Amino acid sequence: MTNYSPYPVAFTRGEGVWLYDTDGNRYLDALSGIAVCGLGHAHPSISAAISDQSSRLIHTSNLYRIPLQEELADKLVARSGMDKVFFCNSGAEANEAAIKLARLHARKKNLVEPQIVVMEGSFHGRTMATLTATGNKKVQQGFEPLLPGFTRIPYNDPAALVQLAASQQEICAVMLEPVQGENGVVVPGQGYLEQIRALCDEHGWLMILDEVQTGMCRTGQWFAFQHEHCQPDVLTLAKALGNGVPIGACVAATPAADLMQPGSHGSTFGGNPLAARAALAVMEILETGHMDIRAKESGASLLQQFRNNLGGIKGVVDIRGKGLMLGIELDRDCGDLVNTALEKRVLINVTAGNVIRLLPPLIAEAGHLQEISDTVSEIVLDFLKSDAS
Ligand code: PLP
Repeated sequence: MTNYSPYPVAFTRGEGVWLYDTDGNRYLDALSGIAVCGLGHAHPSISAAISDQSSRLIHTSNLYRIPLQEELADKLVARSGMDKVFFCNSGAEANEAAIKLARLHARKKNLVEPQIVVMEGSFHGRTMATLTATGNKKVQQGFEPLLPGFTRIPYNDPAALVQLAASQQEICAVMLEPVQGENGVVVPGQGYLEQIRALCDEHGWLMILDEVQTGMCRTGQWFAFQHEHCQPDVLTLAKALGNGVPIGACVAATPAADLMQPGSHGSTFGGNPLAARAALAVMEILETGHMDIRAKESGASLLQQFRNNLGGIKGVVDIRGKGLMLGIELDRDCGDLVNTALEKRVLINVTAGNVIRLLPPLIAEAGHLQEISDTVSEIVLDFLKSDAS
């Protein structure tokens, strides 16, 4: 189907931060498959774990206990400070599970027409419920009727939530990203999550954090909410959890963690032995490699390099980020820069039309980061110069 329009390149091999195309050309990956391959490509320990597991057991079914899944759940619970996990295969599915938890929570509160508060500019996935939750008309267009039960407010604006609470009695949950990725790496003010948490506590709403893009050390903490003093009720993960092996997780704290009963929800593949084993390998490397600290330090250094190279340049609106999640906002659309960078053998992304998004692998070393900042700065400067002339 023609739902993608791929760039004219195909990769057949990867190693660490490098990808190799069909002609053997080498590219520096500054995108990690959109925040997936945080540990780089063909990581030897992950490949060994997948290979070993595939020769033992790939799939059984959630009809039976899956010890590797239980082990993974224990690790996620310990890392996040939450209580229980539902496993699935993608970010959208993790968010579907979270939305279903919100609806179950609403039933308990006897709400008749429950509302989940979602944010302008958000992205939560492409299933019907998650595209309804998504704050982007382009994602929704053509798929109407959307689901009922979602109310939208501006992001990074706790006062808007206070105002809504005064007029809307049927709210059951607030769902948001700690940093909006697809919307152009929008980093809210420090304390925003704590303010949302306080309002959720005051009104008995579930706080649902979509960390599909920000989770697993990307922003310089294991989970982005850990930059603040706050715990969500529900946390969704996918992308980097399997470093490329499809796995998603909906992690919940009590009492939200107890809303599902046998039969409430399910997934054929979710948390199968192969995916769980891959994610366990990922978690071990993130832990032993102190990837949270590494992402924080590398991210700060890369951000500084960009600020040195591009700060104050006419046409550059903002250079921002958290850990290794960076956005360079220009004053005009710049989607073509992806092709320019491709010609220079660096993989980048442009999102929201005018924001260059960089999500380099967490394992990137100083030399790689330097190459990313040199190449991207150069193409931005050239673009702004040629566009102005
Ligand atoms: N939530 C966020 C914040 C995302 O960035 C994405 C994907 O980009 C999703 C959900 C959807 O994840 P998936 O494509 O795995 O369904």
